[in-house]
Amino acid sequence: MAAAGRPERVTVIGAGLVGLCTAWFLQEQGLQVTVLERTAVAAGASLGNAGWITPALVSPLPDPAILREGLRAIAGRSRAVQIPISLDLRLAAFLWRFTRNCTPRRRDEAQAALSMLSDHALSAFDALAGVGTGGGAAAPAAISGQPVLAAYQSPGERAPMLAELREFARRPGAGVDFDVLDGPAVQQAEPILTGAARAAVRIHGQRYLDPGPFLDALADSIRRRGGTIRTGTEVTALHDDGSAVTITSRVSDDETRSDCVVLATGAWLGALAHRAGVRVRVQSGRGYSFSVPMAQLPAGPVYLPAQRLACTPMPGGRLRVAGVMELRRPEAALDRARITAMADDVRALLAGADTGRRTQEWVGARPCTPDGLPVIGATRSPRIFVAGGHGMWGITLGPATGQLLAQAIATGRTPPDLAPFNPAR
Ligand SMILES: Cc1cc2nc3c(=O)[nH]c(=O)nc-3n(C[C@H](O)[C@H](O)[C@H](O)COP(=O)(O)OP(=O)(O)OC[C@H]3O[C@@H](n4cnc5c(N)ncnc54)[C@H](O)[C@@H]3O)c2cc1C
Repeated sequence: MAAAGRPERVTVIGAGLVGLCTAWFLQEQGLQVTVLERTAVAAGASLGNAGWITPALVSPLPDPAILREGLRAIAGRSRAVQIPISLDLRLAAFLWRFTRNCTPRRRDEAQAALSMLSDHALSAFDALAGVGTGGGAAAPAAISGQPVLAAYQSPGERAPMLAELREFARRPGAGVDFDVLDGPAVQQAEPILTGAARAAVRIHGQRYLDPGPFLDALADSIRRRGGTIRTGTEVTALHDDGSAVTITSRVSDDETRSDCVVLATGAWLGALAHRAGVRVRVQSGRGYSFSVPMAQLPAGPVYLPAQRLACTPMPGGRLRVAGVMELRRPEAALDRARITAMADDVRALLAGADTGRRTQEWVGARPCTPDGLPVIGATRSPRIFVAGGHGMWGITLGPATGQLLAQAIATGRTPPDLAPFNPAR
């Protein structure tokens, strides 16, 4: 396949955070963009998630600890991780590869790679928000900057998180600032935590947002800057003829041509990416969320690591509670038992959470890869790129991904920090 020159028109498929950020940064590079989306803006995982922008917490999913949780899940003893009893062949193949990445050595390698990307996370959000230029997508006020408080029932339970943060802080330029709280200091720092929380760590310099309005603002910004977003357009095939890509969509078998294409279809990345030569398997890891009215909101995000729950204050006095890793296909129905179990955990640990009046029950599919690394870059076609597979961290890493990939597409040179995420690995 002949090398592609600098493209003029790029089509991005998928209007989740990763696709929209890629489109926005392609516009920064002076390129014309069209986004094709099967359903609507933020129809996938990018809507009901916890909204954390937390580079200090980004870590690979395959890890010796998650392997232990997975074994508990198979035995039916985990609430946080859910694996169907009847494995299909695709899921079995994914789990086999995933398990082989759950060693301390592979985890450390994946962590080093992810850190290269997460180092760009906050500056990429600043670029999107127009910090310093006044011309960004979303008002900076849409992003809040309170510390994240991780709460535990004992100091022993907290030890692995402290070890990770200390390791993170040792990295050149990482500069994570955190303090350790014990006993009554936990409730003084965050009065909504019940007495069951006896140890905590407060991590500074992180941010959070309400994903729905943020994505809407980003989509509006892309349109204002001359881009097109076509919703209700499911892409079914791509064909690179050596000079451009023909895109077939389900809208009356419509065909359009584009100089190049970026596939950012989240947990659905597999189908079209596989045909473009990408062998990395993307598995849907479904997560749940709901909102509860609170007598008093926490000052910032609260993390309950033992229950693997992320709680985020949202506008309107609501607390969004998000969690669970359920390895089922994206389209499967919402399982109300998961929501009930999460609500039980919240009642025990957070005072004033009115779980009986919960709303916005939601399930969404995280795009997970067996090695815990996203896939970002060219496929075997120099005109078809992929951007996805961010698993638990697509909100934090979406803008950095879009920024670096847009540079690669516009200049033809892949930034070194994208090397570990090569889709051809
Ligand atoms: C419960 C939960 C909590 C989370 N919390 C956080 C958090 O706090 N911080 C964080 O960093 N990350 C978090 N995540 C992860 C994050 O939400 C995802 O990694 C991220 O949203 C993935 O974005 P995406 O754009 O790749 O995919 P998606 O948002 O799923 O977007 C993919 C889009 O592609 C469209 N599409 C699919 N196929 C086609 C097709 N053939 N043609 C056209 N369009 C198509 C879909 O309709 C969808 O709109 C969480 C996830 C969950 C489930």
